[in-house]
Amino acid sequence: MKQKTWSRKKINDEFTGLLKADGTPMSRQQIHMARKKAHGVCLTCGEPAVGVYCLRHTIAARERMRRKLKYRRRLRQSPSYILEQSVRSKRRLSPRIRAQQVRRLKSRGRGKAAVK
Ligand SMILES: [Zn+2]
Repeated sequence: MKQKTWSRKKINDEFTGLLKADGTPMSRQQIHMARKKAHGVCLTCGEPAVGVYCLRHTIAARERMRRKLKYRRRLRQSPSYILEQSVRSKRRLSPRIRAQQVRRLKSRGRGKAAVK
């Protein structure tokens, strides 16, 4: 039998009962995202994340915003393109370069958190 991985009980951790800047309670969806972010899993699918999303959803988010903001150019040297290329070509990126690109992606997420 498959082991149960969830519980009906309310989660009680540092995110429980968080308030927004204006003093109103944070929505359960926002808290759910904050928990995922803290655990380092993708906000969409729960796979191990690079930055805030896994690589697949990082690319999805990039393409979604490209369409929305009508961007024409592609910044080929940005981490999401470099990591995408390494997956597509099945060519192993050296771990050092990969770690460097992942760090760049992560620092981008942190910059946004600082604004919030
Ligand atoms: Zn994902």
